[in-house]
This record gives sequence, structure tokens and C-alpha cells, in this order.
Amino acid sequence: MTTTVDFNIQRTTNSRLSEVDFNHLEFGKTVADHMLVAEYRKGEWQDGKIVPFGNITFAPTMQALHYGQSVFEGMKAFRMVDGKISIFRIDKHYERFLKSLERLAMAEVPYELFAEGLKALVQLDAAWVPSSEGSSLYIRPFAFASEEVFGAKPSDEYEFIIFTGPVGPYYPKPIRVKIEDQYIRAARGGTGFAKCAGNYGGAFYPAALARKEGFDQVLWTDGSPELNIEESGTMNVFFLIDNVLVTPPLSDTILDGITRDSYLILAKEMGYDVQERTISAFELAEAHQKGLLQEAFGAGTAAVAAPISSIHIKGTDYNLDVYTDNNFCMRAKKRLTDIRTGVAEDVYGWNTIVDAR
Ligand SMILES: *Cc1c(COP(=O)(O)O)cnc(C)c1O
Repeated sequence: MTTTVDFNIQRTTNSRLSEVDFNHLEFGKTVADHMLVAEYRKGEWQDGKIVPFGNITFAPTMQALHYGQSVFEGMKAFRMVDGKISIFRIDKHYERFLKSLERLAMAEVPYELFAEGLKALVQLDAAWVPSSEGSSLYIRPFAFASEEVFGAKPSDEYEFIIFTGPVGPYYPKPIRVKIEDQYIRAARGGTGFAKCAGNYGGAFYPAALARKEGFDQVLWTDGSPELNIEESGTMNVFFLIDNVLVTPPLSDTILDGITRDSYLILAKEMGYDVQERTISAFELAEAHQKGLLQEAFGAGTAAVAAPISSIHIKGTDYNLDVYTDNNFCMRAKKRLTDIRTGVAEDVYGWNTIVDAR
């Protein structure tokens, strides 16, 4: 697929590609050579430009820093078996980006700028898309309020940026999680469904406390005495109970994960009963005691699937068996990877192909 929008491209004269150790990629540490930058001024988006990745300068009054108008997406591009590159579910990510922008009262980013911008950027930095198993090019589109005034009001100026970076497998080991019964990440009517910076800022403290106690992540609940489960740190969660795949239903307190949506589709294809329904921590504990809790895992773009080996509920650890290739989680992850890399046919139209040249 060729791009229909011509972006002004200023190529780097100093590629960092040869300095990268693609066998030891640490998540979030390496960025590719270029980024796309567009500005919103006087009610309009200016043409996006692709420039060498580098610092940007703003006055200390820049609004995003004070009032938190800042939203992002997290996407991935994959090296396919034929050498081409696929970008996963662009339209679904764009739809969610619009919802986040709207909830934060920010200017809408046009589809062409988002979709064609990221295609052009991935094409230019095609050599940065790794090919080893479990690795990919992470894509981070984001927008923030850039007006330099210190009144608390929606900004009149915005910046839209996309950068990318190669990443390896995210959570190599099964994770231990804790039901968080003191803090919540989202409240009804709040911003929980938006991928906004502040949701993360507010979640770091409870997550750090959990890590001090020896857990990898928290399992958020709705804050009710029933401890209804919502999601895990930066992932949606699934449970396999008596061969039924259960995940909490979407609401304004849950992030509408694109990996979650993809697993729901794949689970049906694989012949599983799927239930999007409320599930409490107590139901989980009971299912475990009856021997019916077979699997628990997190789902998100970064981790793809993160098997959970232990769930801590009010003082008790509920341990789950070590994972094998026969588990739903591992098989669904493989099916997803096969579609993304062109090993299996893209029957759902999820891939946008970029010619690597
Ligand atoms: C991004 C995110 C997810 C996962 O969404 P994907 O589209 O699958 O990457 C889940 N929960 C939170 C809080 C997130 O920010």
C-alpha cells in the first residue's frame, strides 16, 4: 500500500541503526531514527513533517504539563515472513484515539494525518522493524496541549507526534499479581476508558507498593466491597474457568483494549465459550478452590499475552499451573502472531501492509 499524503521528510544524516543490539532490546529504551510532528494552530492542523527523532522545546507554561491534556496510543508493526511489514489494526486504534481526545476536550486529529503519517514513518524506518521471534516495532502516536498560557482551560494549541522503537518480548516470565483493594485506577464517569497520561500517573504509586510486596502488577477492581475485577496495570485480563473464557465487560472505567478485542474474536474462532461479564475476586478464589480456574492472563499491545502464575486475594496466594503450549493463552497468542506475521491468512483484515523495499 502506498501513502496518499505526501509528508515533508527531512532524513537523518546520522542513522543510529548500526548501534542497536537487536538481540537485547529492552522495552522502551530504543527509538528509531525519525518522528512525525504536526501542530494544531488557530483551529487547524498544519501539515505533518517527518524529521530526525530529537528533543522538542516548550515554555514552562505549556498546558499539558499542568492540566494533563495528553493522550496516546500504543501500536505495533511486525516483520512478516515475506519480508514486508504489517501494522496491526490501524482503524481500531484511530477510533480509540478519537475517544480519548474527545474525553480530554482536545482537538480531533484527522484520520489521514494519523494513518498515513504512521505508514509513511514506518516505511521510512522499515529497517528498524526487527524480525526475531516476539519482537516488533512499537509505535507511539500521542497528542498533548501545547499552548503556553497558565490558565486552567482547554488548550487552543496541540502537538501530534508519532515515534517508533524496536522492542523484544515484554514479560518473559509468568507474572504474580495482587488484587488491589485499597486504590482504584478509574471511577464511574471518569477517564478510565481514555488512554490518557494521567491514568498512568495515578496508577504508578499503588503499582510501586505492590512491587515492594513482591508482586509484578496489581489487578484493579471497581472499588466496591464485591471487588469486581477491572483490569491489570496496563493490560486487560482474561480468566479461563471450566473451559469458559471470561473477561470483565467494557465500561467507562475499563480501557477498550485492541488485544482484548482480538482475543475475544480468536477465542470464538477456536471454539471457546466467551463471556464478557462481571467477575469478582471472590468468584475467582472460589473457582480456584474448586479446581476450575485453569488460566489467568493479561492482554495488551506491549505484552501481547502475559500469563499470570499467582493471584493474591486478601492475604491468600492462588497459584496457577505452569504454562504449556496447550494453554488457551499461548495458543491464542500464537494464532495472533501468525496472523500478524503472515504465517496465517489475515482473515479479519487486521493488517495494513507496508512494502519494506
Ligand atoms: C493500552 C492499555 C490496555 C491494552 O490495550 P491494547 O489496545 O490491547 O494495547 C489495557 N489497559 C490499559 C490501562 C491501557 O492503557
